[in-house]
Amino acid sequence: MKGVGGRFFAKLKSISTNVKQGLVLPTVISDIKNEENGRAPMISLEEIIEKNVPDSVEFEEKCPPGGSDAVILYTTSLRGIRKTFEDCNTIRFLLGSFRVSYDERDVSMHMEFREELWRTLGGRVIPPRLFIKGRHIGGVEEVVGLHEQGKLIDLLNGIPRSPTTAPCKGCGGIRFRICFSCNGSRKVVSEETDDDHSDHSDTPLPISCVECNENGLTKCQVCF
Ligand SMILES: [Zn+2]
Ligand SMILES: [Zn+2]
Repeated sequence: MKGVGGRFFAKLKSISTNVKQGLVLPTVISDIKNEENGRAPMISLEEIIEKNVPDSVEFEEKCPPGGSDAVILYTTSLRGIRKTFEDCNTIRFLLGSFRVSYDERDVSMHMEFREELWRTLGGRVIPPRLFIKGRHIGGVEEVVGLHEQGKLIDLLNGIPRSPTTAPCKGCGGIRFRICFSCNGSRKVVSEETDDDHSDHSDTPLPISCVECNENGLTKCQVCF
């Protein structure tokens, strides 16, 4: 009898943990009590857990643009703060190991990405930040923690696998290219001609390039 009782308490313990996490409906407990009385429960505990609300409800619904059905990872390629840079690599490596396709948004490449990240989370957060299917999963601690608990792969369920082809031919995987209009200088010479005036000594003043972002980069047309 000791075996059965021990098993029961072990199950009860795991159930109470799950109930706390909102994973299992309280009615499950009555099934387990039935099992103790010698009657098998109608469905197994594993089935109940599987049928329950997905783990992702634990995470706050905060959806970056275009992220409702995708994996979005905000990163930075600035090496100024070494930990931040390494944290980005850690999450990148984990996602790569699961071979899921994800949208990496490097905030140091494109200010718009940083602004949308801040807008989505309502504060000046620093990368890395991972979003899965419109929910904020967190930074490196949260993501590595979930991976160690074996939960990250469940959250990635349903995400298309990344194509195993070579990096983008347009940008080499960087997703941005040096602006063709200004060669990355952010300045272009005004194309307005001055033919009406006889005075040709005036050199045209450079104006800000409107084709590229603050870093003289344009989005890769193949990637985006
Ligand atoms: Zn430009
Ligand atoms: Zn590209």
